[in-house]
Amino acid sequence: MDKQQWDKCVEFHGHECPGLAIGFKACEAAIEKLGIKFSEDEEVVCVTENDACGVDAIQVITGCSIGKGNLLYRSTGKQAYSFFNRTTGESIRLVLKPFKGEMDRKERQEYLLNTPAGEIFEFKKPKYAVPEEARLFTTIICEQCGEGSPEHKIRLQDGKKVCQDCFEEYSRGW
Ligand SMILES: [Zn+2]
Ligand SMILES: [Zn+2]
Repeated sequence: MDKQQWDKCVEFHGHECPGLAIGFKACEAAIEKLGIKFSEDEEVVCVTENDACGVDAIQVITGCSIGKGNLLYRSTGKQAYSFFNRTTGESIRLVLKPFKGEMDRKERQEYLLNTPAGEIFEFKKPKYAVPEEARLFTTIICEQCGEGSPEHKIRLQDGKKVCQDCFEEYSRGW
């Protein structure tokens, strides 16, 4: 494993933990399988299915981040990460295999860091195409609170354009 990269992840995340190691190994596998490098723009896209510790390693190593728009959160809660290489069109979905045997935190972290990614993850294919690149939307001023929102988040309420905070959800209970 690349100790220098791991140290960078630990510094960003704030502590070392098995969760961070999962994200770290997912990056190793993505780099190996898709030939990706640190993404300066949106060449690499990651769809993470959880918002746990591992996502921090992914941001540090692959350059996928919320701010750049190439880190997307799909909340199934699974320890699964999909990577897309826009340049080659290749993609992979990594799903953590269940752990065998009893391990404490430290042992689990060491196991993850020192085991080949192929033993840690199942390699699958994402069931969807690469998400479109981040778009810029016109800002609309909410007619109720006066705050600006991107066009696609605006709703109509009593004929007025309102933001998500001011919109009262209509639901009949199911
Ligand atoms: Zn952590
Ligand atoms: Zn509003």
